[in-house]
Amino acid sequence: MAQKSQIKEPLNDELLRKYVNGCHILHYHGLVDAYGHLSVRVSDDSFLMCRYMAPPMVANREDLWLYKVADGEGVKADTPRGFSERYIHSEVYKAYPGVNAVVHSHSLDVVPFSISPKLPLRACFHMSGFLGTNVPVWDPATEYKKDPTLVQHMLVRDTKMGASLAKALGAGQDGLPKEHVALMRGHGFVCTGTSIEMAIARSVYTAQNARILKDALAIAGKSEDVVVFSEQEAADAGRSTISGAVKPWPLWLAEVESNPLYQNHI
Ligand SMILES: [Zn+2]
Repeated sequence: MAQKSQIKEPLNDELLRKYVNGCHILHYHGLVDAYGHLSVRVSDDSFLMCRYMAPPMVANREDLWLYKVADGEGVKADTPRGFSERYIHSEVYKAYPGVNAVVHSHSLDVVPFSISPKLPLRACFHMSGFLGTNVPVWDPATEYKKDPTLVQHMLVRDTKMGASLAKALGAGQDGLPKEHVALMRGHGFVCTGTSIEMAIARSVYTAQNARILKDALAIAGKSEDVVVFSEQEAADAGRSTISGAVKPWPLWLAEVESNPLYQNHI
C-alpha cells in the first residue's frame, strides 16, 4: 500500500491568503515583476503555486493550483497553464524534504553577482548572515556542455535542469539544503525556507546584501578592499536575525494591504 503523504501545510484559507500576500510582498520589494514566482509545499508530494500570471496580480482562489513534486505537472488534469520554470520548485522540494517554500527571483540587485566571479555574493550585512561565505552560482553551461543539443536559453524548463539547479544548493541536515540561496548565472536566484515568511525574508535580505556589496565596491574601488563576514560572523549573524520573520512580516503585510494594486479576495 502506498505510504500516506504527510501534510506539511494545511491547505486552508489562511495558507491561501498568505500565499497571495507573499506574491504581493515579493513584488513590493522588487523581487518579482511580471516574472519570478513563489511556491509553498502542502504535502510530501505536492505544492501550491499560482497559474501563469504576474505575481502582483494574483488575487483569487481560481489563480491557485497544486502541482506534483514528482514531475512539476498539475495535480488536476484541468490545471491551467503554469509557469514554465515551475521545475525549479518541484526539484528543490524533491531534493530537500525539509523545504516548505521556494522563491525564484530575477532581482536586478542580485543578477550582477551571478556573472562576477571576482566579487562573489557572500554575507556582508548583519541581516544576511544566512548567506554564509559561499553562495553557489549554478551555471546552466555545465548541462549545455554535457548535451550540446539543449536549447541554451538559460531557463529551467524541465525536471533535468531543475534537478541540476537544486543540486547546487548542496545537501545539508534534516532534509534541508546546505545553502539557502543559489544564484543562477545571467538569470536570478532561488531561495528556500521552512515557511513562506522565511523564504521571502531571505529573498529580501539577499537583495539588500547584494546592493550593499555593490555599493561598497563602488566606494572601495577593488574587491579586495571590501570587508565581508568571516564564516563565524556569518553563522552567528544568521542565527541571530530574521528568525521566523516575526518582526518584518506584519509591516510587509500592511504595506501591500494598503496598496490598491494588490488585491487579495481570499
Ligand atoms: Zn526565471
